[in-house]
Amino acid sequence: MKLRAQIVFGLVGVMWLVLAQPAPGFARAWYYPMDAHEARAYLKGFGQLIDTVFYEGQEELFPFNRFYGYHAGVDLEVSPSELSTRVPVYAVTSGTISYVGSLAGYGGVILLRLDGEATTALYGHVKITDLPYRVGDQVSAGSVLAHLGDAFSAETSRERKHLHFAIYRGTDQYFRGHESTPEQLSARWEDPLAYLLEHGAVSPRPAAPVATSTPPLENGQPILYNYNGRHVPMNRTIIFVIAGGLALLGLGVVAYRQARSPETPLSVPVPASAPAPVPAPPTVEPAAEVDEAAAFLIYTNGLKRSFAAPMYHRRSPDAYLEASQPAIVRVKKRGVTWDEFFKTLPFRLTGECLTTGTGDTFCSGGEGELKFYLNGVRVADLLDRQIHDGDRALISYGVDGEAQIQKQFSQVPDPRSLTD
Ligand SMILES: [Zn+2]
Repeated sequence: MKLRAQIVFGLVGVMWLVLAQPAPGFARAWYYPMDAHEARAYLKGFGQLIDTVFYEGQEELFPFNRFYGYHAGVDLEVSPSELSTRVPVYAVTSGTISYVGSLAGYGGVILLRLDGEATTALYGHVKITDLPYRVGDQVSAGSVLAHLGDAFSAETSRERKHLHFAIYRGTDQYFRGHESTPEQLSARWEDPLAYLLEHGAVSPRPAAPVATSTPPLENGQPILYNYNGRHVPMNRTIIFVIAGGLALLGLGVVAYRQARSPETPLSVPVPASAPAPVPAPPTVEPAAEVDEAAAFLIYTNGLKRSFAAPMYHRRSPDAYLEASQPAIVRVKKRGVTWDEFFKTLPFRLTGECLTTGTGDTFCSGGEGELKFYLNGVRVADLLDRQIHDGDRALISYGVDGEAQIQKQFSQVPDPRSLTD
């Protein structure tokens, strides 16, 4: 009898823990530091090597300051219409303000110690006058932290209007915008967009903001929102339980697929006309003249690389690009591999690293991953495969999730629809 009572109390206790007390790590909301983050350009990506080549032809955007090294954060750019409007930046999660001040290179800087993370977010090029809080104050997740400084003013240290956003490990004050070596970069900095993605960040601007209480006002405008107050904890718990179940289901499916095959297929339906990936034939085919076409695209940190420059065209009689359609490889000799083709171009590509013709290097590692796709399927050995008529290849470097990669792959043209 006693034992049964204990079991009942125990079960009730567990249910109470699960339903009424969502774990803090799950309950904390995460947001991107600017709205419409998916639509924004990232002029300097995380870990990108900023050198003299980077600044070539960018004089208008960088008329005063030139910094060099590995970029320790991401630069989120504004749209032309935002040049003349107040552009808010948001607390990516709840935290404590640990610095507000002005520094050369940044103009206004805010440091936000992120609750429960032992990491700090850095917001550079922001207006720091008339902020509704002081150092030591707690701010809620998704609240408006500040607004971007005006272009080429003291507020941005005479840089263009944009947000330099970074996350470093530690709760001290640390301000470097660029590090001298990749080792220094990875010793201190998180890839901020990957970090937010991992934490389930969402866009900070709700479809229809609803004030549950009178927000603090400045010049008649609300300056500190708290979206958390609109959520009922029980609803949130149910959402987390459902999301957790779906996540487990998803993990199960992924694990099953990976157990079946080392290649992870994209979930986009591959067009029926796309040939299944063919394993490299065991015997060497005799060299023969053919007239075939394949297509490829390369994305780095979400940006499509261009091969329109003449330096990429007609580099080899066996497989080459042309000015009219620089994403199409013309194959004139049977058996040419992707590696042999890429080796004719003025850049270096291995399974681990891409060094572009403009000198940028993108390597798999802490900041991003170099991924290869052939006809909609992720493959590890694209470079070793022969180019086949109608092939569509994607090489993507960055932290892009599957949805972004699907979008990128859909941009690879169909070489069979060519009319010439
Ligand atoms: Zn920056």
